[in-house]
Amino acid sequence: MQASHLSVAPGCAAIRAGRLDRRRLLAALAAAGLGAALPGAARSAEGEYDAMLLSCIDPRFVTPVYRYMQGQGLAGKYSQFCIAGAAIAVVAAKFAAWRPAFWDNTQATLQLHRINRIIAIDHRDCGAARIAYGAASIATPEAATETHKRALAEFRRAVGEHHPGLTVVTGLMALDGSIEIFS
Ligand SMILES: [Zn+2]
Repeated sequence: MQASHLSVAPGCAAIRAGRLDRRRLLAALAAAGLGAALPGAARSAEGEYDAMLLSCIDPRFVTPVYRYMQGQGLAGKYSQFCIAGAAIAVVAAKFAAWRPAFWDNTQATLQLHRINRIIAIDHRDCGAARIAYGAASIATPEAATETHKRALAEFRRAVGEHHPGLTVVTGLMALDGSIEIFS
């Protein structure tokens, strides 16, 4: 294939050169500004990843939680387990039936992605916290802080028992996307 026979946009050097291998395609995508939209595209289904994120299903927090992970330099480098209440789903008696799915999933991501830490992000005004512990548990900012601090501490202990080698980071996110980290 002769480069001169093709008419392509500047920046598609890999295509023009006729060497459309994976690395060059990704470089071309990055040059075209598409790489940022596909942070996981350069990686494979199995391999060395960084973390598993545990977060709540609350629609208001999907984007702020992603932005936090992105800010930590983790875009495309983590797996995700999303469940109502985040860490509360793993420790509250009310959600005991959900627990095996979390631990089985953690085992799967350890095996597939060889993660070395779990990042659990609870959030304020969480409906699942109310279901698990009652309305008073999150009625004031102070009460909510205590409720989540307790649940996150219990979560860290539980991960330590199941997977002592894993680092655990736990945080509580506010509606403005700011986060308090507890450890
Ligand atoms: Zn929630």
